[in-house]
Amino acid sequence: MKKTLLFVGFCVALLTYAQPKKPNIVFIMSDDHAVSAVSAYQDWLAELAPTPNIDRIAKEGMLMHATYNTNSICGPSRAAILTGKYSHINGFFKNEKGGDFDASQQTFPKLLQKAGYQTAVIGKWHLGTAPTGFDYSKVMVNHGGQGTYFNTVFVENGKDTIVETERHSTAQVAHDALKWLTNKRDKSKPFMLMYQFKAPHRPWTPNPKFNDIYNEDFPHHETFNDDYKGRLAASQNMLEIENHMNRKDLKVPPPTNLKPWQVGEYYRYGNNGEFWTPNDTLQGAALKNWKYQRYIKDYLRCVAGVDEAVGQMLDFLEENNLDKNTIVIYTSDQGFYLGEHGWFDKRWMYEPSFRMPFMIKYPNKIKAGTHNKELLLNIDFAPTLLDLAGVNIPHDIQGESFKPQLFGDNYQGRDAVYYHYYEYPFWHKVQPHYGVSTGKFKLIHYYYDMDEWELFDLEHDKNEIDNLYGKCGYEEITTALKQKIKALQVQYKDDMSLEEMRAMTDMVVERVYSENKE
Ligand code: CA
Repeated sequence: MKKTLLFVGFCVALLTYAQPKKPNIVFIMSDDHAVSAVSAYQDWLAELAPTPNIDRIAKEGMLMHATYNTNSICGPSRAAILTGKYSHINGFFKNEKGGDFDASQQTFPKLLQKAGYQTAVIGKWHLGTAPTGFDYSKVMVNHGGQGTYFNTVFVENGKDTIVETERHSTAQVAHDALKWLTNKRDKSKPFMLMYQFKAPHRPWTPNPKFNDIYNEDFPHHETFNDDYKGRLAASQNMLEIENHMNRKDLKVPPPTNLKPWQVGEYYRYGNNGEFWTPNDTLQGAALKNWKYQRYIKDYLRCVAGVDEAVGQMLDFLEENNLDKNTIVIYTSDQGFYLGEHGWFDKRWMYEPSFRMPFMIKYPNKIKAGTHNKELLLNIDFAPTLLDLAGVNIPHDIQGESFKPQLFGDNYQGRDAVYYHYYEYPFWHKVQPHYGVSTGKFKLIHYYYDMDEWELFDLEHDKNEIDNLYGKCGYEEITTALKQKIKALQVQYKDDMSLEEMRAMTDMVVERVYSENKE
C-alpha cells in the first residue's frame, strides 16, 4: 500500500514537472493615458507628475518605447487588442455610429478560456455588445458605454445593472478587481484579468482625494502655440485647448437659475468653437493658459488615481504570493495630446496619439529593467499573450507575437507600422487618414475630402512640424514609403479603393448604448 502511494506521488510530481504551471495574466489598461504622462518614459512631464506604481512594472520587467496603435480611438483600439486584427477586419472602426463590436468573433480572451483559463473583465469596455469569452464581467455602460466618473453604471455578467454610488470609478474598478481575485477566483485554474479604467478620459474628473495635488502651474509643451503651417488637415482641426473645450471639461458651474435642459447646453458650450471665458478679465493667451492648467491638472490627478489602483493590484499580487507566476501589463487604448500642437484628444497619426505606453513584467522570464525599441502594434498584444500562455496563435490573427523579444531571443521585428483612422467629422474634425512609419520617417495620406500628404523626418523633427512632402531631396524616401503603404495594405487586406474607404467613414449604424436610450 505504502509503495503504491509513493508511486502515485512520484507520478503526480512528474506530471507537475512536465507541465509547468501556466502564467496568470493581469492586463491593465487605462483610457487616453499619454506616454508623456507615464514617468517611466522620462518624457517632458515625468518629473512633474511621477507615476511610481505604474513604473514598478517597467522596473521589474520591460518597457516598450515604440508601441503604436492601428486606429487611435477608444473602441477601435480595444477591438484591435481583443482580436489581433485591424479595424476593417474586426469590423469596429469608429466609435460614432459605426455599430457595435461583433461579439461572436474570435478574441484572445475566448482562446485563453478555451485553453483552461478563468477569464474576467472589470471596468471600461466601450464596445456596445456585452463581453464574451469571460467567466466574469462587470463593465461600464452609461454615457454611451464610456461610463462616468461618479454614479457609474455597470452591467455584471451581461445582465444585472448596478449603479455604484460609493466610489469614484477608478476606486470602484480597483475594489471590484481585488474582490474578484479574493472571492471568485478558481484556484485550480490560471486566470486572465482585464483591469480597465475610464480614467483619464474626458471630462477628466479626479477622485476628490487628489484635488490638492499639482497646485503649481505646468509648463507648456514646445508646440503649444503651433500654427499648423504646411499641414492643411491639422489646420482644420477642432481639438484645440484654446477653442474647443467646453465648460464641463473645465468644471465651470452653471448659474443656479437654469432649467435642466439649459444646464446641458451650458456645459456643451465651446465644443464647436463658441467663445467663452470664466471671467471677462481672462482673454487671449492668458485664457488659453487658464484652460490648459485646468485641463492638465485634472488629467494628471485622474492619472494619479490610476497609479494608486495599479499599486494596489501589484501589492495584492505580492501579498498573495501570486506575483512570481503572474504576467502584468500596463497600457492605454491610445495616446493623447497634453497641449502638444495646442491640442487635447487623440485620433491623429502624430506621435502623441499614435504611440501607446506599454510595459510588461514576468518575473524570472523577462529580465528586470530592460528596454525594447522595436516597432510594435496593438494587434500584437493578442498573439503575444496567447504565445506566453502556450496557446496556438490562429493563422488569421494579423499581429505578431513578440514573446521571443521579451525573453531575449532572436527576434526579427517589422520595419514599418501601418495606421488607418476613419471617424469624421465628429467629434473633432480629424480627416480620415492612413499612413506608415518606419520610426525614422512617417508618411500620411488624408484622403476623405482632400488629397493631402505629409512626410516627416522623425529623427530631426520629433514634433512633426515640418512637412517635407514634395520638397526637394525627399523624392526617393517618398516613393519608398508609398510602396511600403501599398505592400502593407495588401498584407493587411486594406487595399480597397478610396471610395470604399470613404464609405466606411460615411456609414451610419446606431450603437446599442446610444445616448438616446439613456
Ligand atoms: Ca481612449
